[in-house]
Amino acid sequence: MSNVKTGVCLNCQKITELQKSHAINKTFFREISTKCPETFGKPLQIKYHDNEANLDGNQITYFQFCKNCENYFNSRYEDYSVKFFKNNLSRVKQRTTKKFIRYSNVDQKKLGKFLLSIYWKISNSENDLVRNVSIFPNNINAVIRNILNNDECLSKIGCKIRVFKLIDSKFDIKDDGLKQIIMTPFLSANGTWYSMMFYGFFIQMTFYNFREDDISQFRFLKDNIGSLYVNFKEINEIHEFKERVLSSYY
Ligand SMILES: [Zn+2]
Repeated sequence: MSNVKTGVCLNCQKITELQKSHAINKTFFREISTKCPETFGKPLQIKYHDNEANLDGNQITYFQFCKNCENYFNSRYEDYSVKFFKNNLSRVKQRTTKKFIRYSNVDQKKLGKFLLSIYWKISNSENDLVRNVSIFPNNINAVIRNILNNDECLSKIGCKIRVFKLIDSKFDIKDDGLKQIIMTPFLSANGTWYSMMFYGFFIQMTFYNFREDDISQFRFLKDNIGSLYVNFKEINEIHEFKERVLSSYY
């Protein structure tokens, strides 16, 4: 299959040659394919809507952006954020406690927009793995474009994002194993959070208006450069994960 196709760029809206974009950066997949021969280099992909968990080489690509927009997103958000998740930012220091990792000097606005862009790409993708994922109404595309192309904050659409680091005390799956799990976005049972998993992290996004006094305990990404607290989360306490993986394998 060709790597370019003519169509409307999701970002600049021009009819042009579209690149095959990865919704979740390809370096995360590359790491699985080189480091995990026991899974044939394929991540455990959990497709929420179909209640399935499979080893699947599908890298969630779709023709969405022109070359300019693809480069823009890479240089503006992705390069930085991928380095953050892979622990390759020299300015960011980590301190680990029992409950959380504190990362200092994190450009959280950049990170937040990177994560928003993943949800946005997936929400507009026809890739088999995420075809049924619907997060944003179509009429919000223009607002998201404005946020991602200008100095706007996520709060403009009431969007709040938080990040957890996955751990597994029950089956003792190590970090390298957790990094092989990709769960495409799903809406939590209470309808509050859109969640997803990749590279050993659990990401949650919400539009819910929490009470003022609740907000501090949620540790959302802020609109500044500063300390980011990433709480640990037991993967087996995530109901939707347990349900899908256990029903597929046991
Ligand atoms: Zn474009």
